[in-house]
Amino acid sequence: ATPMSVMVGVGKAAEAGVLIRNGEALQNASKITAMILDKTGTITEGAPKVTDIVLAKATDEKDVLQLAASLESGSEHPLAQAIVESALDKDIELLKIEAFNAITGFGVEANCNNKALLFGNDKLMKLKGIDLTGFVGKAQSLAKEAKTPMYFAVDGELAAIIAVADPIKSDSISAIQRLQANGIRVIMLTGDNKETAATVAKKAGISEFFAEVLPEDKANKVKELQGSGEIVGMTGDGINDAPALALADVGFAIGTGTDVAIESADITLMRGSLHGLADAIAVSKATLRNIK
Ligand code: ADP
Ligand code: MG
Repeated sequence: ATPMSVMVGVGKAAEAGVLIRNGEALQNASKITAMILDKTGTITEGAPKVTDIVLAKATDEKDVLQLAASLESGSEHPLAQAIVESALDKDIELLKIEAFNAITGFGVEANCNNKALLFGNDKLMKLKGIDLTGFVGKAQSLAKEAKTPMYFAVDGELAAIIAVADPIKSDSISAIQRLQANGIRVIMLTGDNKETAATVAKKAGISEFFAEVLPEDKANKVKELQGSGEIVGMTGDGINDAPALALADVGFAIGTGTDVAIESADITLMRGSLHGLADAIAVSKATLRNIK
């Protein structure tokens, strides 16, 4: 495309709240054959709320939430924010924690009041040898409701399952349909568990998804698709999406997402809506048509 038509295209896209960083991205957008969408914060609102606290022992729910929230006050993960907010809403005071450690893709651990706290997914519990007997079924049924169940252990024993729900953005479904109508293969990628991922994908109208993907493997998925001949678009909002955004043929960041994601992407969707994807592709097609 001529520099002039690219400038016009960039301006048109900006009117739709789509910020295009370079002319190459504008030209490549219309060639995308596969679009990877991160789940949390991209397809969903990314503001999860606590929905269920299932106690594993005869303990007080308030005590469990106090310890869990105190632990999560050390984490910046959206799941952690949901736990902290839930405690603050109930006027539960947060306690001091020590030796906080975040295990990316698994969960968090710390000490509090001389108790060893552990919070995260089933893989983390397996890693630390926590017995989940009798509770896996409960977690699975919560996941089938599109909730994300997390296990909370105190001193090596399961204390509770705490589940959070993160609703799908109201216009994600129609935005995904627009991409599919353009003949684009839409794929969801998430670190969340398989059951939750399956339920969210189905609700969003996506038939292809990969769950329990570790942050470093998101970029590998981009590479794999490129290797099979796809021109790959990647859309995400998190720090863990950054390498995949940089590697994709066109990286799209959610404008309300992390700075790292925005810096790694070619295009930013300022309105946070996935409709910006089909808008960018439409402007790209129009720009390329103008050259002929
Ligand atoms: P996503 O792609 O959904 O952002 P992550 O890789 O950040 O996934 O996290 C994967 C999983 O690890 C989460 O679904 C959760 O079960 C667990 N996890 C990560 N961070 C935390 C945390 N701070 N507290 C509890 N669980 C966590
Ligand atoms: Mg995300």
